[in-house]
Amino acid sequence: MTSSATYAGVFGAWTAWHLATQKQHVLLVDAYGAGHSRASSGGETRIIRMGYGAYEIYTRWSLRSLELWKALFRATNHALFLQTGVLWLAGERDTRLDETISTLRHCGVTLELLDRAALGKRYPQVNFANVSRGLLEPKSGVLLARRAVACVMEDALRRGAQFEIAQVSSPQPRASHRLDFIETSSGARISAGQFVFACGPWLGKVFPELLGQRIFPTRQEVFFFGTPAGDSRFIPPFLPTWLFQEEEAYGMPDIEARGLKLARDAHGEHVDPDTESRLVSRAGVDWAQNFVARRFPALKAAPIVETRVCQYENTSNGDFLIDRHPELANVWLAGGGSGHGFKHGPALGEYLAGQMSGEGAAEPRFSLASKATQQKRAVF
Ligand SMILES: Cc1cc2nc3c(=O)[nH]c(=O)nc-3n(C[C@H](O)[C@H](O)[C@H](O)COP(=O)(O)OP(=O)(O)OC[C@H]3O[C@@H](n4cnc5c(N)ncnc54)[C@H](O)[C@@H]3O)c2cc1C
Repeated sequence: MTSSATYAGVFGAWTAWHLATQKQHVLLVDAYGAGHSRASSGGETRIIRMGYGAYEIYTRWSLRSLELWKALFRATNHALFLQTGVLWLAGERDTRLDETISTLRHCGVTLELLDRAALGKRYPQVNFANVSRGLLEPKSGVLLARRAVACVMEDALRRGAQFEIAQVSSPQPRASHRLDFIETSSGARISAGQFVFACGPWLGKVFPELLGQRIFPTRQEVFFFGTPAGDSRFIPPFLPTWLFQEEEAYGMPDIEARGLKLARDAHGEHVDPDTESRLVSRAGVDWAQNFVARRFPALKAAPIVETRVCQYENTSNGDFLIDRHPELANVWLAGGGSGHGFKHGPALGEYLAGQMSGEGAAEPRFSLASKATQQKRAVF
C-alpha cells in the first residue's frame, strides 16, 4: 500500500515531490499525463510575480516558491525560469498598486517605480496611453510551465515516487468516513493511507455534489504574435512580462521565438476541460488584434503565429482550496488555482504535505467552508 496518492498537475506533482522528499511512498496518478494539453498546468509559460495587492500570504508563497523552483532547476540542470522582470501597469482608476507596493516593501521584495515618462523612455516599443505609472519586479519572470511540471515529476520519481496513467472514479461515501482505496476506470484498485485529489478544473466533476458549484472552470484564450524579422525589441530584456489589470490583460515578451504572448484575464465562459474546443474564437482574435495594434504599434499587422485555449479553475473569490474532505478524513482536496496558481506549486505542496503530517495550523483562506457558490473575484 502506498502512503499517498495524488495527481500530476503542478499542485499534485509538487505535493508528491514534498512527500517523496519526506521518504513517504507516493503514487502519482493522472488520466492523461503530466502537464498535458488539457490540464491547466499544460501551457508553455506562466508568470511568477510577487505582487498580490494587500494579500501578503500570496506574496510570501510566491517568494518561497521561486526559491524552491530555482533550487529544483539548479539541482536538475534545467533552465526553466527566465528572469524577464514583471511590470505592473496602473491607470488613473487603479486602487491596487499602492497596496502591492506596500506589501512588497514589507516583505523585502526588490522593486522599481516608474512614472509615465520613465516607462516611455525605457520601453519605446509600447504605447502607454491611459497608463499613469508602473511597478517593476526585476527579479520575477516566467516559468516554462509544461516542462517545469515534467521536471518536478521526474525529480519526484528519482526520489522514490511512482507514476501511473489511469482515470480515477469518484469516491463514494463510506460509513467508516475513510477511503481505503480508489478505483480506476479499468476497475483496478489503488490503496493508500491518504489521498490527495489535486484534479484542477476536474474537481467539480470528481466531486459533483461537494464542488460542482464551487469550482468554476472558465475558458481562457492565449495568442502569440509573430514579431518583425530582425527586430529584437520584443524579446527579453528589452520587453518585460507585464500586467495591466484595468484592461484585464497581460503578456510576455517573445520567449523561445514563439512570438509576443497576449492573454485576457477576464473570465470566459464555463467549460468542461475534457471536451472544450481548443480553437480560439473570432471575438478573441478581434480583441487580441485590437489590443496589440493599440499597445504595440510596430505589431499592428503582425500575424498570430500560435494560439492556445486553456481553462482557469476558479474558486468564488480566487483563494485556493486546500482542505480535508468533510466526510472522508484521509482525503485531501487541493485546487482552485484561479488563474494564478501555477507559480505557487512548490509552496502549496509544502503546505499540504505538512498538513497531511499534522504539522502547522490550517490557513482559513484555503478552507472548503470559505468557498461560496457565487463568484466574486478578489484575489488576482
Ligand atoms: C491561460 C492560463 C494562464 C495562466 N497564467 C498563469 C500565470 O501566469 N501564473 C500562474 O501562477 N498561474 C497561471 N495560471 C493558473 C495555473 O496554470 C493553474 O492554477 C494551475 O496550473 C493549476 O494546477 P492544478 O495542478 O490544480 O491543475 P491541472 O494542471 O489541471 O492538473 C490537474 C490534473 O488532474 C488530472 N485529473 C483530473 N481528474 C482526474 C481523474 N478523475 N483521474 C485521473 N486524473 C485526473 C488531470 O488530468 C490533470 O493533469 C494560468 C492558467 C491558464 C489556463
